[in-house]
Amino acid sequence: MAQLSVEDLVVTYGSVTAVKDVSFVVEDGEFVSLLGPSGCGKTTTLRCIAGLEASSGGTIRIDGEIVAADGRDVPPEKRDINMVFQSYAVWPHMTVYENVAYGLKTRHEPAAVIEAKVSEALRTVGLTGYSDRYGTELSGGQQQRVALARAIVTSPRLLLFDEPLSNLDAGLRDRMRFELVELQRRLGKTSLYVTHDQSEAMLMSDRIILMKDGKMVQSGTPRDLYDRPASRFAAEFIGNANILEGTVAGTAGGKHALVTLTDGVTIEGRFSWPAQSTVFGLVLVCIRAESIILVTSGSKAVNCFEAHVKSVNFLGAVVNCLLQIGGVALRADLPARNPPHVGQTIMVRIDPEAVTLISEH
Ligand code: ATP
Repeated sequence: MAQLSVEDLVVTYGSVTAVKDVSFVVEDGEFVSLLGPSGCGKTTTLRCIAGLEASSGGTIRIDGEIVAADGRDVPPEKRDINMVFQSYAVWPHMTVYENVAYGLKTRHEPAAVIEAKVSEALRTVGLTGYSDRYGTELSGGQQQRVALARAIVTSPRLLLFDEPLSNLDAGLRDRMRFELVELQRRLGKTSLYVTHDQSEAMLMSDRIILMKDGKMVQSGTPRDLYDRPASRFAAEFIGNANILEGTVAGTAGGKHALVTLTDGVTIEGRFSWPAQSTVFGLVLVCIRAESIILVTSGSKAVNCFEAHVKSVNFLGAVVNCLLQIGGVALRADLPARNPPHVGQTIMVRIDPEAVTLISEH
């Protein structure tokens, strides 16, 4: 069992505050990602947890035990944490076996135990038969598997990943995402994963912590963040969205509100944060391209609009269309079968539940 708790973490480098009051918990067995653009403080947060970086404030606990607080830092080797790096960090002058066995040897485990644990770890990452190869004789993907085996072989309380797939080519990276998450589920290891790639975070995580400028800006399940972005930044960073400005014109029952986008175009939507359902004035309106659907003309349902098709781009499963609804331009992903054509006037519907209203005030 291992729970990680980070409370009010602050990291400063001279005049730069890289991490500002970051607090979160990773529950036992959970896979959580720190997601955000380059320089937002993800790696610094991870390195503080590993003990590779000193914090300037805050408390880090593993299973309730304080590992960092007020300069009283437990050294990295005593934290029972392993980390997988983007650079693999596989020792080239050692064989695969020696690389993986290293952590067990430093613990003076008996030779038979080391052998059994190394072969189990190599089997887990699909490298049975590679024991005698040297680091230099492996592909990038194989080196990353060695790094993974080395991380899991000592059964640490916590696994930390710093963009471990970024150096792999696109096809292998896609496969490794599935493999890694399947491995994590199988081992049930509490894991914290750093990435700037939103699709990677969405695919792999139980929960995502979105960071910007050293701060946490939103956290939740991938679906929470996708369906209910709480800021323009979150809406733009995760998935493709139409983001428009509107003015709340009234409530529409329950958590919904009516928002005027331009003269003559009013749309019903739902606040990202239900507590804001009484907000009036300027809001952002987030509409995902796939939530715009074709309907038969003459439909009188809520959020039905007549749309003029300005452009159609074939993407395979869908066509991405630029639609003009009155003074509002929207990008819509419509089925590629029987797509609309440029110049056509069509009828579309947008489910009010899929129209997210964001008040950033
Ligand atoms: P990336 O995805 O590019 O790795 P990141 O989100 O992991 O970015 P960090 O590496 O944590 O970001 O860096 C956060 C901020 O702290 C950046 O502004 C960076 O320049 C600064 N920083 C990081 N390490 C140091 C250091 N050793 N000395 C000074 N500033 C640093």
